[in-house]
Amino acid sequence: MASNRQIRVGGVPIGGGAPVAVQSMTKTETADVAATLEQIRAIADAGGDLVRCAVPRDKDVEALRTIVRESPIPVIADIHFNHTLALKAIDAGAHCIRINPGNIGGHEKTGQVVDRARAAGVPMRIGVNSGSLPKHLHELERESPVEALVQAAVEYVELMERLGFEDFKVSIKSTSVPNTIASNRLLAERIDYPLHLGITEAGTKWSGSLKSAVGLGTLLADGVGDTIRISLSTFHAEEEVKVAWEILKALKLRERGPVLIACPTCGRLQFDMDTVVAEIEERLRAYEDPIEVAVLGCAVNGIGEASHADFGITGAKNEGLVFAHGKPLRKVPQEELVDALFAEIDKSIDVGRTVVDEGKSAEGAEWLERIEEENAGELTPERIAAMEAAAATEQALGDGGGLPMAGAPKAKRIRLDEAASPTAGRRFTRA
Ligand code: SF4
Repeated sequence: MASNRQIRVGGVPIGGGAPVAVQSMTKTETADVAATLEQIRAIADAGGDLVRCAVPRDKDVEALRTIVRESPIPVIADIHFNHTLALKAIDAGAHCIRINPGNIGGHEKTGQVVDRARAAGVPMRIGVNSGSLPKHLHELERESPVEALVQAAVEYVELMERLGFEDFKVSIKSTSVPNTIASNRLLAERIDYPLHLGITEAGTKWSGSLKSAVGLGTLLADGVGDTIRISLSTFHAEEEVKVAWEILKALKLRERGPVLIACPTCGRLQFDMDTVVAEIEERLRAYEDPIEVAVLGCAVNGIGEASHADFGITGAKNEGLVFAHGKPLRKVPQEELVDALFAEIDKSIDVGRTVVDEGKSAEGAEWLERIEEENAGELTPERIAAMEAAAATEQALGDGGGLPMAGAPKAKRIRLDEAASPTAGRRFTRA
């Protein structure tokens, strides 16, 4: 269940149906104002909506005043153990204070922070971590770590409500992906405050991104979570933001910049996809429009599954094709394919629509048709997938007969041959 309540951190709405906000955390010493601001700007440029800074010492809270004033995005002060620093961070202008009531020194000190936050109109994040649950929940933690995490969060929420404070979001974090999923699902059923999601100490860029995509992606797909942070062991905090955006874009929760889709390649590959895809990905970083760009390693399937893409390229031996929305735009020598793709993208952005030269488009269509005809017998991954989908549909309709083969001339039919390979699953043979 998505949160019903909404808070605002600086100008950023969190919860209550607002877009899922992306945040990251600076990895610099907060007291180093120049380095911290440089990293915050990198986070903001990558699309970060919010940034959190660790405030463990007085000199960090002193630096915070300048950082808050000059930061392009709202700043959350991360405080542990020392409620005085939380009070000072509010006075320094922090847009939000993150505390863990379990380690801030008891209910009275939590109450002091709440009073100061309320007076300043500053929201809070109430954070619960699997490593710092209150003592009275340790036994429950041994029996059910998920229930213990949720219970701790609910108790802190009740404490906030007893203090008459409702301007907060809640996070429960664990290093365990299954526990993060289960505890946040349960918490979303029990409270309606906004939830911040993250996997603690997720790991390196590679493993941490995957763990986060699985854990946070599962919750977000359920509609749980209002703001996310991807914790990665890299000094470059903007990498966390890029991963967060890829998760949100994959779930179609938010749009930002181009989406690149590329075939996985196989033995039919007709050009150096590794280099081409990397170059396209790099050049697309300069674009802000949410255009979808497809790269197909060969033209054997035609434009096929990439026909919905705003732009795309595919290639054969020496030549390639630029296409848009399933329609060929022009055929070019293969070494010019990437430049030609970007020339078409730029042209369309300039005039606000895709520009089609009908003569060049017809030439491209003819070329594509020839490649498809020459390779009509190829069982490519895409054709097998299309045939399996068609077979499933036909079987569901109670008719398991012959199927038209995707991309093949219409007169040709194929037949399911279920006995062809009992170990490899169903195979297809030509009739
Ligand atoms: S057959 Fe499909 S996966 Fe193989 S190179 Fe062509 S488009 Fe890519």
